[in-house]
Amino acid sequence: MPHNTKYVFVTGGVASSLGKGIISASLGKLLQSRGFSVTIQKLDPYINVDPGTLNPYEHGECYVTEDGAETDLDLGHYERFLNLPTSQMNNVTTGKIYQTVISKERHGDYLGKTVQVIPHITDEIKRRIKLLGTKHKLDVVITEIGGTVGDIESLPYIEAVRQLRWELGPTNSAFIHLTLVPYLSASGELKTKPTQHSVKVLLENGIQPDVLVLRTEKPLNDDIRRKVALFCNVDSSAVVESIDVKTIYEVPLLMHKEKLDETIMKKLNLPVQEPPKLDDWNEFINKLKNPKSKVKVGLVGKYVELHDAYKSIVESFIHAGAVNECHVELEMIQSESITASNVKEKLDHLQGILVAPGFGHRGVEGKIEAIRYARENQVPFFGICLGMQCAVVEFARNVLGLQEANSTEMVRNTPYPVIDLMEEQKGITDMGGTMRLGSYPCQVKKGTKAYMAYHKLETHERHRHRYEFNNQFLPQFEAAGMVAAGINPETNLVEIMEISSHPWFVGVQFHPEYKSTVINPHPLFVEFVKATMNFGG
Ligand code: GLN
Repeated sequence: MPHNTKYVFVTGGVASSLGKGIISASLGKLLQSRGFSVTIQKLDPYINVDPGTLNPYEHGECYVTEDGAETDLDLGHYERFLNLPTSQMNNVTTGKIYQTVISKERHGDYLGKTVQVIPHITDEIKRRIKLLGTKHKLDVVITEIGGTVGDIESLPYIEAVRQLRWELGPTNSAFIHLTLVPYLSASGELKTKPTQHSVKVLLENGIQPDVLVLRTEKPLNDDIRRKVALFCNVDSSAVVESIDVKTIYEVPLLMHKEKLDETIMKKLNLPVQEPPKLDDWNEFINKLKNPKSKVKVGLVGKYVELHDAYKSIVESFIHAGAVNECHVELEMIQSESITASNVKEKLDHLQGILVAPGFGHRGVEGKIEAIRYARENQVPFFGICLGMQCAVVEFARNVLGLQEANSTEMVRNTPYPVIDLMEEQKGITDMGGTMRLGSYPCQVKKGTKAYMAYHKLETHERHRHRYEFNNQFLPQFEAAGMVAAGINPETNLVEIMEISSHPWFVGVQFHPEYKSTVINPHPLFVEFVKATMNFGG
């Protein structure tokens, strides 16, 4: 018998950035904790094939999956909530859809037919939605549609979902629409009209939503719920309040209180038996809300004006802070603003410094100054990807005395290329999807800070880079006290560099932040936070 996968669709209306990703992840978490196998998928209406080539200022962080797909940052939320890896199948863009359809057309697969948005583009969208459920025999696939209902570019997705719902039959799919109910302080009222209009747009496109989730800053009273239900044609029980909360991690509990999980399960004809098992989650929230100590950590990067640019790092600190029962306050520091003369003033109130990933030379010298400060003043330091590469350059210049040391990404003909382009990157001209991406093994050396964190000799971490530590210099570095604490056992690429004599100075070529989840906080973040708690104490 074929596995009967159920599909839930999530759209947004009225305004963007209402948190569809968090609502999808929260529902996924609740269904998972009731024993169902679930995954979450994001359909993005833009034409880029993936967000890998997008500037973080445009679209926030680019998230990377185990299998090396560069994806939307919502996949990070899905993994952090469900504690399950996603894959390239979990993020579909209009660019990907068209790429597939056009290459099939060139291949002659359409047998001379005119290739059109309907049915060819919509068929490809439907295929990608269904594939995820059938391939892994999942109970539920939640598909979040990016953008706002009414946008021209999301129309083919809405039409594909309309068709798919019809094909699946009434008990095999549910449709959630998330909208905003604004509060007008002048009249002291919550306004439902934008929601009504947004639902009308969906109806014009042939979709009657089953559940409305209303983002609001004030509680919804019964009148409002009844009004929305009546004018938008849904049961009163299907009007769900999503009030602003302090942390996104409270949203699953809030959605459970509002019975979102139960309403969806009933619609899908899934048995509602035991309540969800959320003990781990509740314990995490409890620790998060009742920290016993507090530290201030500087996040030195060049995209600091946009919080979403370092989303996974910010979330990793929340997970690692909670296990340590410590509130980690992150101070975003623009690396371009740091110079040798102001570095002390900018950093001396911090218990830890993290230097962020990045590309290109903007802000690199400021990062190097920050690292020098951390190294010389024994301040716990964590360098990620470019942050690790800058730590290597700093050490080469100021400890090994190689004054003009650099990465060849910054100065192509530096006399001391301590960070150099990877061999397999030479000759690559396409920018999209061509970095060293995804999960690779890392052998951890016993007796190092990294080993203290992992407690094992081999781990796997995700990557996104073109440059690497130049192994020609390794003996010089190790003799002076900066050691390779982790290497790739197959290629010998350096994965972790640390300074043995420093209380906690660790740089990693990979991105630990992509693997930190609520249930499994990343061990390096956990140890780094521990080190910051001990700093100066
Ligand atoms: N720009 C560096 C490289 O390509 C670092 C990349 C990163 O920080 N993700 O190797």
